Amino acid sequence: LKNTLAENKDQPAVTADGIKLELLANINGAIDCSAAVAMGSAGVGLFRTEYIYLTHPDVPDEEEQYIAYRDAILATPGSTMTIRTLDIGGDKTVPYLGHTHQEANPFMGWRSIRLSFEHPEFFNTQLRAVLRAAAEGASVNTQVKLMFPMITTVEEVRKTRAMVRKAAQQLRAENKRFAEVPLGMMLEVPAAAISINDMLPLVDFVSIGSNDLVQYLMAADRDNPKVSHLCQPLAPPVLRVLATVIKACNKAGKPVTLCGEMAAQPRAFVLLFAMGLRSFSMSASFIPSMKELAAHLTEESCRTILRRALTLRTTSAVKRYMAEQLAILA
Ligand code: PEP
Ligand code: MG
Repeated sequence: LKNTLAENKDQPAVTADGIKLELLANINGAIDCSAAVAMGSAGVGLFRTEYIYLTHPDVPDEEEQYIAYRDAILATPGSTMTIRTLDIGGDKTVPYLGHTHQEANPFMGWRSIRLSFEHPEFFNTQLRAVLRAAAEGASVNTQVKLMFPMITTVEEVRKTRAMVRKAAQQLRAENKRFAEVPLGMMLEVPAAAISINDMLPLVDFVSIGSNDLVQYLMAADRDNPKVSHLCQPLAPPVLRVLATVIKACNKAGKPVTLCGEMAAQPRAFVLLFAMGLRSFSMSASFIPSMKELAAHLTEESCRTILRRALTLRTTSAVKRYMAEQLAILA
């Protein structure tokens, strides 16, 4: 694979047989947007908002958050900006939101949307700030979307929608400028993957958080090197779940993206494309080389590879097989 940034960044994200892909960037704030644009991303697929909170001694107020989101939106004109609500807990904690003692199982505990629900006033502040910032998207032709992390149950999806509705009603009553936005869920909990068909009617889009989905499927901490041999995106059960989820989203006509690390791993990229995934979100620095890889792929050849990969029973067999196939493809 050629990996020269200058050559690849303006190349369209399109496969050898002319299928258009959407390659998006993962960001932590407006400061990352110029790199996302420079690397030729089609927009932002994941804005991790926790950094705004982690860098504050107290909960950032609505105005501070509004400015942070607005600045990111304005810095990515003519594209998409997918903002994720606070995903704190697990490995990242903030004392002012009640993280005063270490949980025995932080990744299975009080994190992410679960924590937002217990702080409805802070959650409301974030929702209001996003909806207000979204109104600025029109001036630069950028579509803002909002998504919720760690969704586990159908009730949680309903509750997030109700809370967004409430924030919008407040802003309307106050005559504040805001925009309605598509609402999506992150799919990163096995229970949600199993319930995907119950959840799809309630969401406008899905973003697969494979970093968490893999760790929860394999019951292997994503940050613990002792179990990294288990926490593998190419593990056969992981591939089966991903194939099922992507198929369900496509069948329902709901846009689906994958924003975990595997989106930028060539072996996984080929398999995800073959499963029907057309939108990938990754660290901006990987986008040029993924465009280059895409230019070597056809749907037919990748589907043949996927069919064979799905018959393999071990992660090492999948890895070996995919390494051989990549050497032939690109
Ligand atoms: C993921 O879980 O794959 C994801 C993108 O979210 P984060 O890495 O922020 O948990
Ligand atoms: Mg996650």
